[in-house]
Amino acid sequence: MLGQMMTAPLLISSLIDHAAKYHGQTEIVSVETAGGVTTTSWGEVARNARRLGSALTRMGLAPQARCATIAWNNRRHLEIYFGVSGAGFVCHTINPRLFPEQLIYIINHAQDQVLFLDATFLPIAVKLKEHLPELKHVVLMGPRDEAAAAQLPGLIFYDELLETGDPEFDWPSFDENTASSLCYTSGTTGHPKGVLYSHRSTLLHTFSANLSDTLGLTARDVVMPVVPMFHVNAWGVPYCAAMVGARLVMPGPGLDGDSLVNLIDTYKVTMALGVPTIWLGLLASARKSGSTLESLKRTVIGGSACPPSMIAQFRDRYGVETIHAWGMSEMSPLGSVNIPLAKHRDLPIEEQHRLRENQGRPPFGVELKIVDEDGNALPQDGKSQGELLVRGHWVIESYFRKQDEELLQDGWFATGDVATLDADGFMSIKDRSKDIIKSGGEWISSVELENIAVAHPKLANAAVIGVRHPKWDERPLLVAVVAEGESPTEDELLAFYEGKIASWQVPDKVVFIEALPLNATGKVLKRSLREQFIDLLMS
Ligand code: AMP
Repeated sequence: MLGQMMTAPLLISSLIDHAAKYHGQTEIVSVETAGGVTTTSWGEVARNARRLGSALTRMGLAPQARCATIAWNNRRHLEIYFGVSGAGFVCHTINPRLFPEQLIYIINHAQDQVLFLDATFLPIAVKLKEHLPELKHVVLMGPRDEAAAAQLPGLIFYDELLETGDPEFDWPSFDENTASSLCYTSGTTGHPKGVLYSHRSTLLHTFSANLSDTLGLTARDVVMPVVPMFHVNAWGVPYCAAMVGARLVMPGPGLDGDSLVNLIDTYKVTMALGVPTIWLGLLASARKSGSTLESLKRTVIGGSACPPSMIAQFRDRYGVETIHAWGMSEMSPLGSVNIPLAKHRDLPIEEQHRLRENQGRPPFGVELKIVDEDGNALPQDGKSQGELLVRGHWVIESYFRKQDEELLQDGWFATGDVATLDADGFMSIKDRSKDIIKSGGEWISSVELENIAVAHPKLANAAVIGVRHPKWDERPLLVAVVAEGESPTEDELLAFYEGKIASWQVPDKVVFIEALPLNATGKVLKRSLREQFIDLLMS
């Protein structure tokens, strides 16, 4: 016997419909690529999304045609998120920082038919167009611009394209398992791989992300997603915000600390989300300007390990709660979130603070487990380290156009991260399995050593890598970026580790460099550091 309740497919169009109907007046603030700020609303975003869906349908695109974006976080990008997926096409967000060969590979592999671009990225399209045989239309996200039109024959202008669309367009209905969006992971080896999300996985991710013990956006929040919309759907924030009708502040191209502090203070942002490197700049800028970040209540930090010193600074200096989260492109991205349990309330305050440092617990809809090298489950004792496996409603099953390659192990996806889990499910990510330092048979977490180093007041940033060692196979090397106006010595930095970790874990040496090499999503390129310094301890 089946239940006798209404069923409707879980579709992304229902999110924007809800936002328009019940939060139509709620503002969306958007920093424009050309400069200046525009204020629009959920109602307006929804109307334009329908216009866009209608215009793309009239262009004759086939269902699930891939429509790519190379764009900042702004109002037009938001309209594209809902308009493209809502109309049954696939919104393929592309990271502009990828190398040209990777961009060509990704656009051709995805068989993108349309490419939406912010003006910043027009030169990319001009340069790559001849290598993209299947791409039919390039749309510049703005009004008509004759200078741009002269650079790329056939260039379409977004604002004109919208004029051809119907604001009353009826969203099509289809199977909720239909593909909605696509994002390629920039792996460190081989070609990037596509993760193809569905309407259903996106809606379930959105529900769970909006639980109060997950990210818990509300209609009273002013949310600033600094995490780019080209990286795992900006952690799902556009969908979460539409579901609850939160006010959004879209920061556009300027992601420097000064610009972000200014946006937080001007628009009374209550919640901001991004990777740790972004917040390093923001905290430095707030200190310099004397801003108290008055309105800010919560930051969500993830993408790479959030240093405890950053959590402490937000808390002690600005009264801001940091929610440390972990996830990956293959998980839409949310895998775990650090929110305390009731039983933690009575712990001494120092212990409560320490509990907030790890990557947290899975929300409903995801399960985590750790296994040894033979795939045997390891105990959740907070000590055993093993490879982290995940499964759940928004976890990948196979990569795009690689359906015949078996990806899962007994229904679990291997993340490539090494972690511990405690009895409550709190997870501590020790490393990427390829970054963990194997010294004489013992494992050293590069993340732990980095967390300590970045807390040193004379350092602006730091990375720790394993390099070859004649006796121990591998030993940790601290690669340090000095803070402006400082000149710490090697001894001083190594002494900073004393009493914080076992002495055999202290890095063998420090090298100073100007800046850390970052990959397209702002993560430190440890492979490149290893190539540079691999034999430093061999002589
Ligand atoms: P991506 O798919 O590009 O988002 O990268 C996912 C990877 O980023 C994960 O497998 C982790 O290695 C890393 N990562 C994400 N969030 C965190 C975090 N909070 N702490 C440590 N590593 C993280």
